[in-house]
Amino acid sequence: MARNQEGGAGRRPVTVPPFVLPDDARRTIVDHATRDRPLECCGLLVGRDRTVIAAVPMRNVAASATRFRVDDREHIGLRRALRVISPPAHVIGVYHSHPAGPARPSPTDLAEAHYPDWLYVIAGFVGRRVRVRGFVLEAGRMSPVRLSTGTDPRVATEGATTVGPSSRVRRD
Ligand SMILES: [Zn+2]
Repeated sequence: MARNQEGGAGRRPVTVPPFVLPDDARRTIVDHATRDRPLECCGLLVGRDRTVIAAVPMRNVAASATRFRVDDREHIGLRRALRVISPPAHVIGVYHSHPAGPARPSPTDLAEAHYPDWLYVIAGFVGRRVRVRGFVLEAGRMSPVRLSTGTDPRVATEGATTVGPSSRVRRD
């Protein structure tokens, strides 16, 4: 359903390889965002490397239409649960919703984003349309990053071919 939404505005990330956000994780985010309207929802993204395995809804302790704050205790509980998962999986990002606005990072989102390796997903509502977009923190800005469903054969090559000479490809 949400396929082919990215890039609609003509802005394609050129330096950042895509993240994989499978359809079921995307659906979890959209369902959560829809359910919690008019308040913002939030949750954490569990995965490996640049692949999301699951979106895990968290309580928004800010209980606000314009802000979110992940419940610390739920966050700690999730990290504890992940310690016994094999093969290992980690928190690789966070999602939240904009119940009455586009999927674009706000100044607050930027100010509160601290993890350069994380994927920041925003589900934004414009009217009844919801859009899910991904961002990464890059040089003090939130840059859009392509979200693949994981079934797209272009991903493997796209990650490599869109990396410009000025960026470094990190290999672990
Ligand atoms: Zn936001």
